[in-house]
Formats: sequence, C-alpha cells, structure tokens
Amino acid sequence: MPLTPLLTIGAFARASRLSPKALRLYDELDLLRPVRVDPDTGYRHYAPEQLEQARLIAWLRRLGMPLPQIRALRDLPPPDIAREIHAYWSRVEAETAVRRDLAAFLVDQLSTPPASTTRKDSAMLELRYRARSDRGLVRPANQDTAYADHRLLAVADGYGEAGEVVSGAAVDVLRALDTGHLPAGGVLGLLEDAVTGAAEAVRSAAEGSAGGEGSGTTLTALLWTGSRLALVHIGDSRAYLLRGTGLFRITHDHSVVQSLLDEGRLTEEEAASHPDRLLLLKSLDGTTGSTTGTPDLRLHEARPGDRYLLCSDGLTRVVPEEEIQHVLTTATTPDDATRALIDAANRAGGEDNVSCVVADLVETAP
Ligand code: MN
Repeated sequence: MPLTPLLTIGAFARASRLSPKALRLYDELDLLRPVRVDPDTGYRHYAPEQLEQARLIAWLRRLGMPLPQIRALRDLPPPDIAREIHAYWSRVEAETAVRRDLAAFLVDQLSTPPASTTRKDSAMLELRYRARSDRGLVRPANQDTAYADHRLLAVADGYGEAGEVVSGAAVDVLRALDTGHLPAGGVLGLLEDAVTGAAEAVRSAAEGSAGGEGSGTTLTALLWTGSRLALVHIGDSRAYLLRGTGLFRITHDHSVVQSLLDEGRLTEEEAASHPDRLLLLKSLDGTTGSTTGTPDLRLHEARPGDRYLLCSDGLTRVVPEEEIQHVLTTATTPDDATRALIDAANRAGGEDNVSCVVADLVETAP
C-alpha cells in the first residue's frame, strides 16, 4: 500500500490540469492507469507520485503529440523523452515548411498577373544554360539524365536495372509540357499533372524493360514561365541558387538520412557514412507506378544575374559545397561551370554518375 493517501479522480484532475474525461480515456488507452479502482463503485484513485507523469502528458497533448506516440514515451528515461520530443517537433516543422511553401506558391499564383503584362516595359529575362552528364569512373553505365532548353532544366537520377530508361522517361514528360498558354494559377496543376504523368511513364518504362522491377528515378526540375521559375522536386538530386555571392540550397533531400538529420538523430559527420545513406524516402518508383510521397512544388522569383545549379548526388556526395560555390562563382559560362563541376566529382573518385545543369538568368533587350 502507498504511504501517502490516494487522490480521487476529481482531485487528481484538478492537480494535473487534465479533465476527468481525459483521465478516463488515458486509463482506457493504457496511457495513465489509476493505482486503484474501487471494485464496488468503479471510482478511480491516483497516487500523488503519478502527478508528474500526468503533467507531462498534459504538456505533450498541448504540443499536439498524438496519444499513441505519448504512450510509446511513457516508460523512457527523461533524456530519451527529450530526444523524442525534439524528433517529433522537427517532423512538425518539416511538414509545416512544405505547407508554407505551398501557401506561398498559391498566393503568388493568384495575386500576380501574367508575365506578359508585368514585364512589358522592362527588360526581358531569358535562360543561358548547359546540361552535362558523365558516367563517372566506376559505374558501368550512366543512369542519370540531364536536360536543358530555353524553358526547362532537369536532372533525374535513375536506379535499378532500368534506371537509365526511367530517368529519361521522366524528363521526357516534362519536355512535352506545353507552357505556352497557361491560365492564371495553372502552373501548379500543370506540374502536378506532369509528375503524375512522369510516374506513369516511369512505370511503363520499367515494365517494358528487362529487370525493370525495382527501378525508379529522382526528378528535380525548373520550369521557366517567362518571369519565374517553378520548381518540382522528388528524391535526393538537388537545386542550388547562386545569388550574389551566396549559395542557397533550394531543395530538401527526400532521403532516410536527411530525415534522421532533421530529427537530430544523426550528425552531418555520421550521415556521410551511414549504411542507409542511399535510401530514398520519396521517388518516382517503377514498381509502385506512382510517386512514393508527394513532390515539392515551389515558385521562384527570377532576378537577373541569378545562376541555378541542378545536380545529381554524384556531385554532392563527393564535392563539398564550398567547392561547388567556388566553381559557380568563378566560372564565366554555364558550359565552363558544368565541365569544372564534373571534373571535380571525378577527381574525388567519380564513384557515381554525375550530372549538372547550370543556367544563368540574363537580361535581353526589350
Ligand atoms: Mn546517383
């Protein structure tokens, strides 16, 4: 028997700031059991020592943590609970960031008149671009696809036996997009449809290829609308923006290791050698025939002088960002920049296929 007197559910509710209704629910869910239930009346009684746990549950509920997750924490020591709260909150912030981007995209789409009316009197912008892809020094074939034209920049990193076919198929779907007569707000729908189409193309390409089972691809692309760049991204290829002298990574890797980093479970150093470092959380997968997870979609305002880089992980796994920044800052043309970046990857071992698309936004005469 406990040494201190037990609390009735009403007294315990007041002391813990949980309602009696919540306490009954937590009992049923095995989240917080009363120490004694009166066999005759069914009244629940709690020990004062349980207050601390009850208060923690109340705070975690206020954070929005789901009850099953709270139950999983119940018996952990405080440092482990602290780590789990950190991980939970990182996931919430990542999800919010995706929704924030979508909201910004929609606001932009719905409040900006078409490019033809906004840029009538100012100089027009256009893309100067170069795409380059290399097998590297180790792999038997190049399964990457890199593509650039005056309105589409794309990198796709295929995997599996049909990787080369499916990465090409995904980019072909974007190449076929007719962006000529977009209604207001149409870019978002167009890109979503394009990703669905790319996923279908990947599936049929995988089915039509020997060893297509288990093949798939990443896809990172920028679509030029005449005044802005629409980004679509799924997987662990990346997009960077060099604006002034600052290099900004504008994509988030959809990889297992990145999510562990986000949740504070890994350091950057541990991530580089993690056994799961090649596992993707999202991709266009030929086996499922759909995207695993939704792609990121975002709209970027274009400024003259901006330089964009799209690249596969064959570059970013072996060439440090400082070196990428140095090349992008010093290379005169997209042609020079792509050549220098691929040389750098191969100097660092060339262990993977490596692809780069570099594009500059330049002003043309009105
Ligand atoms: Mn790769």
